[in-house]
Amino acid sequence: MFSSRSAFCQQFVKKLELLSGKPFADTTSREQFLALGTMVREQLSPDWIATNERLRSEQGKQVYYFSIEFLLGRMLRQQLQYLGIEEVVEKGLLELGIPLSDIEEIECDAGLGNGGLGRLAACFLDSLASLQYPGHGFGIRYKHGLFKQKIVDGFQVEWPDPWLINGNVWEVRRSDEAVEVHFFGNVESSEAGGKLQFRHLNTEKVMAVPYDIPILGYQNETVNTLRLWSAEPSPFPPHQDIMRYKRDTEAITEFLYPDDTHDPGKLLRLKQQYFLVSASLQTIVRSFVKQKGDMRSFHERVVIQLNDTHPVLAIPELMRILLDEYGFSWEVAWDVTTRTFAYTNHTTLSEALETWPIHLFKHLLPRMYGIVEEIHERWCGQLWEETPGDWSRIEQLSILADGEVRMAPLAIVGSFCVNGVAELHTEILKKREMRQFHEAFPGKFQNKTNGIAHRRWLMKSNPSLTHLIDDAIGERWRSEPAALQELRKLEDDPNLLEQLRVVKRKNKSLLAQYVKEQFGIALREDAIFDIHIKRLHAYKRQLLNVLHILSLANSIREEPNHNWTPRVFLFGAKASPGYTYAKTIIKLIHSVADSINQDPIVRKYIQVVFLENYRVSLAERLIPAADVSEQISTASKEASGTGNMKFMMNGALTIGTLDGANVEMHNRIGAEHMFLFGLNAEEVMSYQRDGGYVAREYYTHDPRIRHAVDQLTNGFLPHTGDLFNTIVDSLIEENDTFFVLRDFASYLAAQQTVATSYDRMSWWRSTLVNIAESGHFSSDRTIREYAKDIWNIQPVSHEMY
Ligand SMILES: *Cc1c(COP(=O)(O)O)cnc(C)c1O
Repeated sequence: MFSSRSAFCQQFVKKLELLSGKPFADTTSREQFLALGTMVREQLSPDWIATNERLRSEQGKQVYYFSIEFLLGRMLRQQLQYLGIEEVVEKGLLELGIPLSDIEEIECDAGLGNGGLGRLAACFLDSLASLQYPGHGFGIRYKHGLFKQKIVDGFQVEWPDPWLINGNVWEVRRSDEAVEVHFFGNVESSEAGGKLQFRHLNTEKVMAVPYDIPILGYQNETVNTLRLWSAEPSPFPPHQDIMRYKRDTEAITEFLYPDDTHDPGKLLRLKQQYFLVSASLQTIVRSFVKQKGDMRSFHERVVIQLNDTHPVLAIPELMRILLDEYGFSWEVAWDVTTRTFAYTNHTTLSEALETWPIHLFKHLLPRMYGIVEEIHERWCGQLWEETPGDWSRIEQLSILADGEVRMAPLAIVGSFCVNGVAELHTEILKKREMRQFHEAFPGKFQNKTNGIAHRRWLMKSNPSLTHLIDDAIGERWRSEPAALQELRKLEDDPNLLEQLRVVKRKNKSLLAQYVKEQFGIALREDAIFDIHIKRLHAYKRQLLNVLHILSLANSIREEPNHNWTPRVFLFGAKASPGYTYAKTIIKLIHSVADSINQDPIVRKYIQVVFLENYRVSLAERLIPAADVSEQISTASKEASGTGNMKFMMNGALTIGTLDGANVEMHNRIGAEHMFLFGLNAEEVMSYQRDGGYVAREYYTHDPRIRHAVDQLTNGFLPHTGDLFNTIVDSLIEENDTFFVLRDFASYLAAQQTVATSYDRMSWWRSTLVNIAESGHFSSDRTIREYAKDIWNIQPVSHEMY
């Protein structure tokens, strides 16, 4: 179809004029984007059909990834690359006077996620398709994705993200495959043939309409599917108040909850969860039965991965289907169900473990409640038999407790495998947070260290580095990212190290150009680009970075003639709208930035910039330009992190704690190629267990700490009054839960090492080593591990057809 540039140009102009009803010369960038997107979708359709046909006829086992979030970002350039037509399209468009980069800018980020968890789901879909696994995603088509962040006077202001307002070229609405989801009502039981039967009556019905998004594999003719559900009113409204019914129904898929870890405790959120799993399971069961599957062997052809606890209602929902619709006995239904699901845990932060008030749960989902109650009772009965009289064990392991449904215990009991997302995290689960469960189910817990799609986070976002690597070691790493290790043979090649330096300079220059255009700020390109981008959270410790910046500025003022290494500190972070502390930190970053950027002495060396509206497409611009990657969470708190992996792959050096996957990065590259500091997880946990940390002592005894902390409230930061009292209180009065002051001195020392090591030969060697060892953190490796150790699925081979 796009065999030659001229053929492409001809077809593009024709498509554009047909779609827009205008002469080519009058068309807008948006119309051009739409035309190109439409052509791409048409181009991939035959492979989409063929992939689905193959899956139908092979009847092999398939995996379904259930996630309340998919943080996809933009798709256009990726689709072009995966179809192998990027060059012909880019050059063709240029002949027509259209830079592809201009058209790319039209596409809205698909921001259907908050951060790491949602982006992980997107990377997994990419790897599933690129490795030709039969794996599909199920999620929600939120009409509004994660809010847009604007900064007004240094404060975060949230704006809705109406990303669908101009339609979505990638999706296909499949009204014919809509299903009904039932809420509220009551459950009636009756006896037939000595068996209790349950019926869920007088429910409120909602239509779940699927929108399918094609998920391309990298140049391999595989096109999997991400199915996103949209809630619509049923054509037969349940009661007379049609307007209210319509409003309530549409509300279900109106917004993504802008909360990372805190449980928002909203009925609507529970509705979203059940809506997702009920609709998805109905589809899966329907297609399984259509292919003449016997539901007793469902688990032999279907495996469902639950991304965190949000989709865990799938467990009682499959029980409901097997009990109420197929008339299975409890034992058989439970056997099938617990062989179908696997659960991924993403956090040990206790405030993030999901629970629902029973009264609410029971009112919204009465049949689900009945089933969860029975799962709970049978489980407690089993525990009683194992350890009679051990009430404390039963209490800790129970699903219902204190008037609440606890989702993590339900997930663990109802699935055949539980995995953590990095080695350290899995160890903490097994030895501490979920020790009792681990002992109750030996062998159920596994580790699957997260990964990132190297195709997006290196090949797409960093073309200069990609070409440099190709020139150095050939292209095999593109499909086998572990082959990046071949770079290690070139550690002492001064020519290659110099080229790495040139590539980094070029990427920094591109970022500077973008920041100038978008925000009107001129970045100093010869400085270290030190980047801290992630959700704003106390445990991620953006505050530690800020205190270091204040302290560095103080040192510069004291010794203005010292030869300071210039540095640009870049931040990007969204705070959950209800998370006051996090929002105050955003204001603090801005106040510190103002104080520094206005100081004629300090600003000669350092610059602080907060880039608003951090999201996937911004991350893709920032990460290739980073010299330093800030991964400074309190040890034991960050389950894995994936931002850390993206930076590593792009040759930034990490300053970080031994937390999450940083530990595994350290194991691969060694301490000499990163800047480690601070307490380790063991030390943090023993402080938490035994006490002994007094933050005030660090404040009192370290003048650098006292100076910087005092500056938050002593009028040094203009026009902020007592705004930052709560932050100082969190450090001193509340004894600094996240050990910011405890790690301060160590962080400062590490930052000084960064400054003195920068731009030496050894720096670029470390850059090379980081890139070389980053292949392990490709999500291709992660997905192969899931496929082999958990899912028991094989890639679909094309050769047979
Ligand atoms: C990768 C990514 C994250 C996760 O970053 P962490 O540093 O691991 O918390 C969050 N948001 C976006 C947009 C990302 O691309």
